[in-house]
Amino acid sequence: MLDFANKIIEDDMIEKQLMKEFKNKTYVKQDNDENVAKFKKIFNYYIKYEFREEILDKIVKNFLDDGEIFKNLYMSEEQLKQMHSAQMIIGSHTVDHFVLSKLSEEEQGYQIHSSFKFLENLLGNLQIKCFCYPYGGFHTFNQFTEKFLSDFGCVFSFNVESRNISLHDLQNRPQALPRYDCNEFNFGKANLG
Ligand SMILES: [Zn+2]
Repeated sequence: MLDFANKIIEDDMIEKQLMKEFKNKTYVKQDNDENVAKFKKIFNYYIKYEFREEILDKIVKNFLDDGEIFKNLYMSEEQLKQMHSAQMIIGSHTVDHFVLSKLSEEEQGYQIHSSFKFLENLLGNLQIKCFCYPYGGFHTFNQFTEKFLSDFGCVFSFNVESRNISLHDLQNRPQALPRYDCNEFNFGKANLG
């Protein structure tokens, strides 16, 4: 797994300064095998934040087949229906989980449109349309994405930014509301080690 990670991580994705600083300070107390320790260091400290989720995603996909991933890590259609009927709001997260800002306008439109269509086919009319950018961060979407979502009738969309939502956010930029990354919570840290 470490070899695969090293292969797909490019030089400019790594925080060189941090690498020097952390090299001997982290994970010295845990009894990790050496490769696991290296792997953890890369993902918890060295890799630039904006690349981390994307690279982890590729690694998971490389080591598990799609069927396994769906069965073990994701909700089933039946579970989505149950949550929906229990009044929970189900939002879209695109079809393929690509970084939207890397796609053409046409492709972005397809990702958003088709994913809402899938949800509406499964759940019926969505009372509130909301969306969450794959990976998140201001680099993962652009002006077109926000405008498309608004025009499409999406009421609000979640970015990743480490702060609470303010009234100002809701009034001025509902298509880029802040959301805490799960890695910031106890036990939420990305960890494949
Ligand atoms: Zn995601």
